[in-house]
Amino acid sequence: MLKLPVYLDYNATTPCDPRVLEVMIPYFTAHFGNAASRQHSFGWSAEEAVDVAREQVAALIKADKTEIIFTSGATESVNLAIKGVFETYGSKGNHIITTETEHKAVLDTCKHLEKQGAAVTYLPVNADGLVDLQTLEAAITEKTILIAVMYANNETGVINPIREIGAIAKKQDVIFMTDATQAVGKIPVDVQQDNIDLLALSAHKLYGPKGVGALYVRRKQPRVKLTAQLDGGGHERGMRSGTLNVPGIVGLGKACELSGAEMAEESNRVSALRDKLEKALLALEETHTNGSITHRLPHVCNISFKYADANGLMMGFNRRIAVSSGSACTSASPEPSYVLKAMGLSDDLAHSSLRFAVGRFTTEEEIDYTIRVVTETVHTLRELSSLNS
Ligand SMILES: *Cc1c(COP(=O)(O)O)cnc(C)c1O
Repeated sequence: MLKLPVYLDYNATTPCDPRVLEVMIPYFTAHFGNAASRQHSFGWSAEEAVDVAREQVAALIKADKTEIIFTSGATESVNLAIKGVFETYGSKGNHIITTETEHKAVLDTCKHLEKQGAAVTYLPVNADGLVDLQTLEAAITEKTILIAVMYANNETGVINPIREIGAIAKKQDVIFMTDATQAVGKIPVDVQQDNIDLLALSAHKLYGPKGVGALYVRRKQPRVKLTAQLDGGGHERGMRSGTLNVPGIVGLGKACELSGAEMAEESNRVSALRDKLEKALLALEETHTNGSITHRLPHVCNISFKYADANGLMMGFNRRIAVSSGSACTSASPEPSYVLKAMGLSDDLAHSSLRFAVGRFTTEEEIDYTIRVVTETVHTLRELSSLNS
């Protein structure tokens, strides 16, 4: 029997994989030590576990374990990266380049810094949702200290040309940060080949627990320095003080190990499910996909249903399907998605769009059911609106 509602909101958060939870549990009870306690075995075993996790996270993004700073999640990682660069490299310049379609963690951090004297360029994106490399390169000035471009977009799943952006940043001697929260664990990410200097990731987007994440901070060629945003005991090489969330970190490490080991297989499985769903929805009249379909994460599609308002659709789903319109953090507001607007969609179309994100625990039966419910609801809604007009 199908269990309702069907969860298709894996970009908002993922359930913790039971294999992840299992390795976390002993670190709440038997191994409860403080990883900073250097004088006894409770501390040592916590420190050892953190060390293993640091290696697991580093391995997934081809970093060295000494380059991983544990945080409370991607929002904190992004804040530390952007504010930390701005405060450290202020003597070199005050210019930051980012994009209009970043997550609020990046946009609101940049807005905050504008009040402190930062000059921020918000690059537009094309109709596919992607950054244009020439526009990016042309925006760089001698005052530019940071380029912050997300790896993959949370609303559309489109993947930016990260390797090309990294090459431009390196050539121009500008630090390159990427919010890779949606990409890590889903597609191969390589901080070396991509010339990434700072990378934010979060456990709860890759089947780990909520409230833990990491920031990759490049240590050589170049060595990136960050001003700490939390002062205290000097944990995490002085960049992030505070007692480490050992169970959470152990979970993040395991989640990274599993995603790395199962990526190829999982990616095939979820993309087959996504493609089946998308194909069926596009077979309805006046529906289309938002964003590039060639540069896209394997598990996401964002679809516009012309003449059918997203809120009406959700109501019609009647709690049988859990999806999102706009980003989760802003979906309470009536404003249409700023991401879709930046791609040139009208207010109407942006208001008629839904994001479907399948994941590790999605079944074919759930996809078939979703196709039925969405098709039915779209038809009903359009009949109603044509009766009303
Ligand atoms: C979820 C998400 C974040 C925020 O991550 P938290 O760990 O919840 O703070 C940042 N950026 C992107 C692209 C996201 O999808």
